[in-house]
This record gives sequence, C-alpha cells and structure tokens, in this order.
Amino acid sequence: MKAIVYGGPGRKSWTDVPDPTIQNPGDAIVKVDTTTICGTDLHILKGDVPAVREGRVLGHEGVGTVTEVGQSVTSLRPGDRVIISCIKSCGHCANCKSGLYSHCLGEEGASGIGWVFGHLIDGTQAEYVRVPYAENSLHLLPAGVTDEQAVMLSDILPTGFEIGVQYGRVKPGDTVAVIGAGPVGLAAIATAGLYGAAAIIAVDLDANRLEKSREFGATHVIASGDADWKEQLLALTDGQGVDVAIEAVGIPDTFSMCTEIVRPGGNVANVGVHGKPVQLHLEDLWIRNINISMGLVNANTTAMLLKLVAQKKLPAEKFATHHFRFNEFMDAYDTFARAAETNALKVVITA
Ligand code: NAD
Ligand code: ZN
Repeated sequence: MKAIVYGGPGRKSWTDVPDPTIQNPGDAIVKVDTTTICGTDLHILKGDVPAVREGRVLGHEGVGTVTEVGQSVTSLRPGDRVIISCIKSCGHCANCKSGLYSHCLGEEGASGIGWVFGHLIDGTQAEYVRVPYAENSLHLLPAGVTDEQAVMLSDILPTGFEIGVQYGRVKPGDTVAVIGAGPVGLAAIATAGLYGAAAIIAVDLDANRLEKSREFGATHVIASGDADWKEQLLALTDGQGVDVAIEAVGIPDTFSMCTEIVRPGGNVANVGVHGKPVQLHLEDLWIRNINISMGLVNANTTAMLLKLVAQKKLPAEKFATHHFRFNEFMDAYDTFARAAETNALKVVITA
C-alpha cells in the first residue's frame, strides 16, 4: 500500500510500505477512505517530537471501512464505516474505566500514552491502518454523516470541546474568549454554546480566521494585533474580564493573554501544546482565585459529538476548506503548511 512515511526532520514521502496485518485479537484493519493533516504532523516534521522514528506512517485522524477484524472483535465487521479516534483505548485499564483514555495503560504503542497513531505506531495517512483495541478506538458511523464531517471527530472537535469547553467549565450565561481561531480554537467556539455560553469572543492575529470564526458561532471577534485589543475585549464584559479564557495557540504570549483577561474566580483552559516553558505569575493570580486547566484530549465525548453532527447541530463540514486525492498528498501538506496564505483550515484527503 501507499502511505505518508516520515523520513526524519523535514522529510516525508507518499511511498510504498507493507500492508498492515492483524497482530492482536482486538485489532481491526481499516481501509482509510478519508484523512486529514493536523498541526501536530507539522511539528513532527520539524523534528519537535523525537519519539517519532524514521519510517513511521504519519496521521492520527481518519474515517474508513473495516476490512478485517481480530478474533475477539465482535461488535465490528468488514464493511462497517468507522471514525478512527486519535486516542487508543483498551477499555479495561483503570484510566480507561474512568474516561481518561489519553492515559490508557494498554501496552500498544506505550502504556500510559493514548495518542499512539502516527506517533508510536503507524498512522492513518495511508491506504490501510491497523487499529488496536478496535472496539473502543473506532466509532460506527451512521449513514447520514459524511466522511468529511466525521473526520473532524477524530481529534479537533473532541479536543476543543473537552480540553477547552469542559475543562474550562463553561456554564449558562458565560462570556468565553477563545485565543487562537485555528481548527482547534474554532472547535471550542463551535461547542461553547452547548453549555450555554452567552458571548463567545474569538481572538486571533489573522483576519480571515476571525471572519471564519463567526460561521462557527463567535459573537464577537478581536484582532490581537490591535494595540488596544485588551480594552476592546474587556469592554465586552462587565469590565472584570471573561468567565472562561481558552488558549488554543500554544505559545507563552497567548497563555499570558488568557490570565490577563479572565475575571476573578474565572477559568483559564489551556489547549495549546507548548514547546517552551511559560511563566506562571502566581504572585498575581492567587489573589484572583483563578483556575487553570490543561490536558491531552481523551476523546471520551466523540460518540456524543457524533450525535450532534448527525442532527446538524454542529457544523463539522465547515472545517473542510481544501480537498485532495491520495495521489496529491504532498500538495495537501504544502497547502496546509502555508495556511496563512492559502486560508486552509482542514485539508481533506480522500482515497
Ligand atoms: P493552528 O496553528 O492552526 O492555529 C493557531 C491559531 O492561533 C492561528 O489561527 C494563528 O493565527 C493564531 N495565533 C498565533 N499567534 C497568535 C497570537 N499571538 N494571538 C492570537 N492568535 C494567534 O493550530 P490548531 O491546529 O488550531 O491547534 C491549536 C493548538 O492546539 C496547537 O498548539 C495544537 O498543538 C494544540 N492541540 C492540543 C491538543 C490537546 O489534546 N490538548 C490536541 C490537538 C491540538
Ligand atoms: Zn486503557
């Protein structure tokens, strides 16, 4: 089969590799029909994730058709359409039993690490993928949901919702600011309304992404390049700050911005993956009773979010801005890597 193979920092190719085979009784083989590229894949390609070895098939998002199942798999059969979750889940360990799939203790990839596809085992940017713990890591797809909608449920929608909205404890009437309106920030914007946010303020440097954010439910947008961005934002609150500030960029500046705009007693939910240390001003924050949360997506809300997509209550299809076929995979990477110029949000690649 063909797959996107990591060849060390700066190197990838769409090339021939052996077809995956069933290795454990809980595995399934899935023919990948639709996949996409994540900012994390770009980080890997920069060499920022040294655990990814040369020869690894990249990708942790996908929708496909089951072609083969291991002996112990009873709830899936060949021909089933499925979403591949970005997080493996053995379903048996203490962490899985408490919904903390991001720290699944199953041995596959590495015990204690839920994100294994395109990281510690071969991923979804391929014609076929082996999915461990298939009964827990795959979600059956109802007929009314398109591949393009479903692929947004592998990672970005659960991430924005779980680590942004749920960890941020959004509640009815809240004013929520989301800093960073990339796919993950937009997913938080799209799902903040589920818990009754009254106002959702998108903050980004990029005018195109701010404009897009209105389509996902932002009630206000602020260009963070404006010298008075903070005054503009505070003017949208009672002057005390937002109830919830969601960080969806992953740099020290935007984390600090969140701590500066949150009201006393409010929540800062950090979703961004940081490559550098962040200064935490406890000397200022303690007396303002600020809560700070962070985490790796558990993907324990995927089935719930899928129901909302099926009922057209979440505009999953709006994330898809560019379309490619598998033989154009390298062009898809190029378009996604130049998102500021191409206005790409998610590139959708189909077999
Ligand atoms: P992205 O790079 O596409 O989007 C980031 C956005 O932030 C862009 O629109 C950019 O214009 C904006 N931005 C950059 N600097 C800014 C600034 N100073 N002020 C305001 N906006 C600024 O990334 P994404 O794919 O949406 O992912 C967002 C973050 O979430 C990344 O750090 C990613 O690694 C992380 N992530 C976390 C998890 C998790 O489990 N916690 C899962 C997936 C992704
Ligand atoms: Zn587990």
